[in-house]
Amino acid sequence: MRAVGYCRFSSENQQDGFSIEAQQKAIREFCDKEGYELLRFYVDEAKTGTTTEGRTSFLEMLSDSKKGEFQLVIVHKLDRFARNRVDSAVSKKVLKDNDVILISVLEKLDNSPESIILESVLEGMSEYYSQNLSREVKKGMRIAGSMGRILGSIPFGYIADKDNKFQLVEDEAKIVRYFFNHFAAGVPLVTLVNESMRLGYKTRKGNYFSSPTIRSILANSLYTGDYRFGKTIYPGVVPVIIDKELFAKAQTHFRPHVTPKNKGVVYLLTGRVFHCCGAPMVGYKSIKKGQEYYYYRCKNKEPGAFIKKKSLEDTAISCLLKFLSSDEVIGDVTKAINKTIKNASKGQDINSLKKEYRAYEEKQNKLLDVYLSGVIDKDAYSLKKAELDLQMKNVDRKIKSCLVSSKMTPSIIKGAFEYYLINIKNSLMDDSSLQAVISTFIKRITVFSDHIDVEFNFSDSTVAYKRDNA
Ligand SMILES: [Zn+2]
Repeated sequence: MRAVGYCRFSSENQQDGFSIEAQQKAIREFCDKEGYELLRFYVDEAKTGTTTEGRTSFLEMLSDSKKGEFQLVIVHKLDRFARNRVDSAVSKKVLKDNDVILISVLEKLDNSPESIILESVLEGMSEYYSQNLSREVKKGMRIAGSMGRILGSIPFGYIADKDNKFQLVEDEAKIVRYFFNHFAAGVPLVTLVNESMRLGYKTRKGNYFSSPTIRSILANSLYTGDYRFGKTIYPGVVPVIIDKELFAKAQTHFRPHVTPKNKGVVYLLTGRVFHCCGAPMVGYKSIKKGQEYYYYRCKNKEPGAFIKKKSLEDTAISCLLKFLSSDEVIGDVTKAINKTIKNASKGQDINSLKKEYRAYEEKQNKLLDVYLSGVIDKDAYSLKKAELDLQMKNVDRKIKSCLVSSKMTPSIIKGAFEYYLINIKNSLMDDSSLQAVISTFIKRITVFSDHIDVEFNFSDSTVAYKRDNA
C-alpha cells in the first residue's frame, strides 16, 4: 500500500516536543515497520494561535487524495490531523469517499465503529487540552493587546513598527477615510468598487478593491483606535484613522446579511436503509402542484415502495437518541472499545517508552559522574542536564498519554454520548457530522410495508417500529 504523511506544527504547541522532524521520523519508522511505501510528506507550519493557522498542505493533501495515487494518510497523532471534531469528520469523509484511510501512528485505530467512537473521545480530549493551552496563550495575548502589540494580521492602513505596534500609513489611511466618508454618506458598495478603481486605489497586494474587501474595512472598528481582542476592547492603543461617530454612521448603512437558502437536500440515512426486498432505498423527490416532496424509495422502484424522508429520519434519530442514553449500551460500547484498545496496543510503545525513559535516567547519572570527576565544568553540565530533562519530560508525557488512552471507563463514553445527545437534540450538528454519527451506530434500517426494523452496532437487538404514515 502506498502512503503519504501529514505533519503539522504550531508554535503554540511547541512544548509538546513533536517537531516536524520528530513527526516525520515516527511516520517513516511506522511505514517501514508496516511495509507501507511512503511517497511524500505534506507539511503545515503555523505561526501563531488558531487564526493564522497555515493549512495549505492539508488542503492539497485532501485534493490529491482524489488521484488514487495513495491509499493511506499517516499522521503522528490525531490532533495533528484536524483542529476540531467537525473539521475532522468532514476531512475524513473526503478521504473516505476517495478510498483513502487515515492512520495515526500513536493511536493505531482502524475504521471499525469502536475505533470511530474512541477516536471522537480522544479528539474530545485533545480539544480539551488545546483549549486549556490556548487559555494560557490568550493570557499572554491579553497583556500584549493592552499594550497595543499586534496579535494577528495587520489591516490595510497600518504597518508594524519596530516594537510590533500599529503604525499609520498615511497613503492607505487616506483610502480608508475615503471609503468611510462616502459609505456613511449613502454611496453604495458597488459604486465604491468602481470609483476606487477609477481613482487607481489598490490593496497592499496591488489589486483593486473588491466589495468584500471594502466591506471588511468598513466593519473594522480598529480604525477608531480601539483594539479588540475576543470580548475585550483596549481603547486608544492604535493610531486613529476615523472617529467613532463616522464609524457608527457607516454601520447603519449595512443591510442585514441574507443567508442563501435551499442548499440542497441531504438524505441522512443513505447507505443504511434498505427495502424488505433487499434493495437499498435511495433519495427521491416528487413535485406535485409546485410543491416538493421527499422520500426514500426502493432502488427496484416497486410500486408503493417508498417512505417519507422526514418520517423515516425522525424515527431513526429518536431511536438513536434512546440507544445512546441506555446504560446497557454504554457498558457494551465501553467493553468493545477497551477490547479494541487492547488489540491496538499489543506490543505498543509504552514498554519501549519506559525503556527510553530509563535510558535517559542512566545518561543523567553518567553526566553527573562526569561532572563530579571534574571532566566538564558546571556550565556544560547544566546545559546538558537541561537538555536531558526536556527529553525526559517529553517521554514522560508520551507515557502518560498512552496510559490515559489505554483505559476507557463507562463515564468517559457516557460523556462522549452526551455530547452527541445534546448536539442532536438541539440540532447543533451539521448534516455530515450527523450522518457520521448515524452510520457509526445504526447498522441497518429495513423498511417493511407495516413496520421498520432498526439494527444497531454494538448490540444484537433489533428495534421494530410501527409505520404510521406510509
Ligand atoms: Zn424493494
